[in-house]
Amino acid sequence: MNKPLILVVEDDRPIRNLISATLKMHDYKFIAVGNGAEAVLEASSHNPDIMLLDLGLPDMDGVDVIKRIRSWSDMPIIVISARSEDRDKIDALDSGADDYLTKPFSVEELLARIRVAQRRLSVVQTDRAASGPLFVNGDLKIDLAAGLVFLGNEQIHLTPIEYKLICLLAANVGKVLTHTFITQKIWGSSWENDIASLRVFMATLRRKLESDPDTKRCIQTHIGVGYRMIRIDPADKEEKEQ
Ligand code: CA
Repeated sequence: MNKPLILVVEDDRPIRNLISATLKMHDYKFIAVGNGAEAVLEASSHNPDIMLLDLGLPDMDGVDVIKRIRSWSDMPIIVISARSEDRDKIDALDSGADDYLTKPFSVEELLARIRVAQRRLSVVQTDRAASGPLFVNGDLKIDLAAGLVFLGNEQIHLTPIEYKLICLLAANVGKVLTHTFITQKIWGSSWENDIASLRVFMATLRRKLESDPDTKRCIQTHIGVGYRMIRIDPADKEEKEQ
């Protein structure tokens, strides 16, 4: 896959320079801007593949930038937030961001998130080319037509809610889904009780996937935020669980 074009939106110059230098060193093409208005302009005129977006911008709320861009683009958006902006991070994910980085972050972390976004890009492109009734991720197979789930050749038995959960994660592979988003999709509400139930169902689902170490690794827990299914790439075994 060709290196994607990355739009970097960060008003803090030292951080923007660090990101730019890192991308340059790794041969990524990028455009770097310092405010929300320029971000929307560059996104519409250059059609980048991935956006790295700081949430605290001088002219616009980062969440509003996401909402605007999501009206025409489904490119992966990775938000960058300060630790004190936990609520913002969740709002950003609920508004259509794919992932987040918390300041301060390391160069390795930044590159790992970009690789995850690139994998999501290739998934989106393949899915468009051939959206079959079979979802495959490593040893995990979901036969959507038959409603069956397999680990390798062995069928695993899931409850209807566990099945809905795994299908929701699979449909959004690579994307962090917030507790609110998931409980809305599963139960149509997101009360405290639903979030508590979600934890229980997720624990039982993961136990059923545990017999296969790679598959166990494929669902990440983002404490206080939600869950994500990562695309298992056999060539990238060291993708770490958070
Ligand atoms: Ca900022």
